[in-house]
Amino acid sequence: MRPASEACGSTWARSYDYTARELVRPRSVEDVRDLVRREPRLRALGSRHSFTDLADTPGVLVSLDGLEESPSLVGDVVRVPGGMRYGELAAWLQDHGRALPNLASLPHISVAGAVATGTHGSGVGNGSLATSVTALEIVDGRGDLVRLSAGEPDFPGAVVGVGALGIVTHLELLTSPTYQVTQTVHEGLAYADLREHLTEILGAAYSVSIFTRWANEPETTGARSSGELARPLAPSEGVTARSADGSVARVWAKSRSTTPEIPGTVLATRPHHVIPGLDPAPCTEQLGVPGPWHERLPHFRLDFQPSVGAELQSEYLVPLDRAQEAVDAVRSLADRVRPLLEVSEIRAVAADELWLSPAYGADTVALHFTWKADPAGVRELLPDLEERLPAGTRPHWGKLFATEDPGAEFPRWDDFRDLVHRFDPDRRFWNAWLDRVLG
Ligand SMILES: Cc1cc2nc3c(=O)[nH]c(=O)nc-3n(C[C@H](O)[C@H](O)[C@H](O)COP(=O)(O)OP(=O)(O)OC[C@H]3O[C@@H](n4cnc5c(N)ncnc54)[C@H](O)[C@@H]3O)c2cc1C
Repeated sequence: MRPASEACGSTWARSYDYTARELVRPRSVEDVRDLVRREPRLRALGSRHSFTDLADTPGVLVSLDGLEESPSLVGDVVRVPGGMRYGELAAWLQDHGRALPNLASLPHISVAGAVATGTHGSGVGNGSLATSVTALEIVDGRGDLVRLSAGEPDFPGAVVGVGALGIVTHLELLTSPTYQVTQTVHEGLAYADLREHLTEILGAAYSVSIFTRWANEPETTGARSSGELARPLAPSEGVTARSADGSVARVWAKSRSTTPEIPGTVLATRPHHVIPGLDPAPCTEQLGVPGPWHERLPHFRLDFQPSVGAELQSEYLVPLDRAQEAVDAVRSLADRVRPLLEVSEIRAVAADELWLSPAYGADTVALHFTWKADPAGVRELLPDLEERLPAGTRPHWGKLFATEDPGAEFPRWDDFRDLVHRFDPDRRFWNAWLDRVLG
C-alpha cells in the first residue's frame, strides 16, 4: 500500500525549504522497497537538522520515522530502525544497561542522518558517531535490500554515505556497559593558553568542547584556579573586542573520572548555556553532578529546543597537527566572523577509515560556527574563511561550506563515486547537492 503523502516543509533551522514533490512515511521495509522501485527520484529524510538542500530531491522524500519497530540487542550490538533518534535510542540503551561511546551536542537527530553526514561529538579518543556502526541495511537504487558489515570492502564507503547510496533501513551499533559522566564548565580561558595548550585541553577529559566568540582578552573577574595566566595579547596579534560576557573562551569538560584542571581557568559555579547570555535550562546538568552518559554527553536536553533555532552552521575538520594554524586563521578574520557569530565550538574527533568521513585517516580538531540567520553575510564570508584554513581541512557535510572541490581532500573520493554508481545506477537518489559536491 502506498503511504500517505504530506507537505515537505523545511530544515529544522528553516534555512532551506525542501522542493520535493511530496513526503511519505513507509511502515515497513517492503514499503520502502516498493517506493524505490516505483519512484524515479527519491531521497531519505532524517530529522531535518542539516542546513542545506542535502536531503532534498525533485521526487519523494522518505521519512522512516513511521517504521513501527523497537531497537533490539544481540550481545554488545544494538539493531536500530532507520528513523530512530539518538535521544530515544540512548534512553532505551540506558534502560538495558548499555551505552554508546559518544553523542553529538543534541539528542534530537536521527541515527541514520547523523551517521550519513559524519556527525560527531568530542574527545581525542572518540571517533565520529559513524565509527560505532558495525552493519548497515540499505535499500539500493534497484529496490534490493543490501546488508553491509564491517570487514566487507564496500562497508567503509557506505557508512558516511550522505544519502547517496539508498535508504538505510537499519543500523547496528557497538555498545558498552553503561557509565556515568560529570560535566563541568571552566571559565576564562585566554587565547595564548588555548593556542599553546589546545591538544592538551582537548585531551583533559573524556569529551571536551571549547566555546569562544574569538574575542581577545581573558576574563577579568573571578579567582584563577591553577596553571599559568596567559600573557595578554598585543592588539597587533588579533582583534581587541571582548565577548558579550567578558570571557574569551569556556571549556565544557565531560569526565568519566575526576574533574580536570584546565590551566588559567576557574570552575563555573552556576550553569551556563553554550551561547553566552542565554537561559541554561535547555542544557544538560553541569557543576560536576554525576549522571548517566546520555544525560551529560550532549549539551542539550531532548525535551528542549537545542541551540538558538533561527541559525546557520558551518564546521571544518582540520588535521590535529595543523590546529594552531586553523585557530590563527579564524582569529585573523575575527572582525568579520564575530558580527555573524552566535558562538564557535572547538572539539576533537579521532581518525577513522570511513571514506567520506571528515576525520578519514587523521586525528582532527573540529572548528564549528553557529551563525546568526544571515545567509547573505555567511555566504560572503565562507570563501575567505576557507581560503585561510590550512591544507587538509574538510567540511562537515550537514552544514554550510563554500568550496566547490571538497573531494580534493578525500583520498577515497573516486572510490565513493564508483560506489554510488554501483548502488544507484539510475540515479534515483541523485540531487542538486550531489551534483554540486560529488560532480
Ligand atoms: C542544533 C544543531 C546541533 C548540531 N550539533 C552537531 C554536533 O554536535 N555534531 C555534528 O557533527 N553535527 C551537528 N549538527 C549537524 C547534524 O548532526 C547533521 O546535520 C545530521 O545530518 C543531522 O541528522 P538528521 O537526521 O537531521 O539528517 P537530515 O538533515 O534529515 O539528513 C541529512 C542526510 O542524511 C541522509 N539520511 C537521513 N536519513 C537517512 C536514511 N535512513 N538513509 C540514508 N540516508 C539518510 C539524508 O538523505 C541527507 O543526505 C547539528 C545540527 C543542529 C541543527
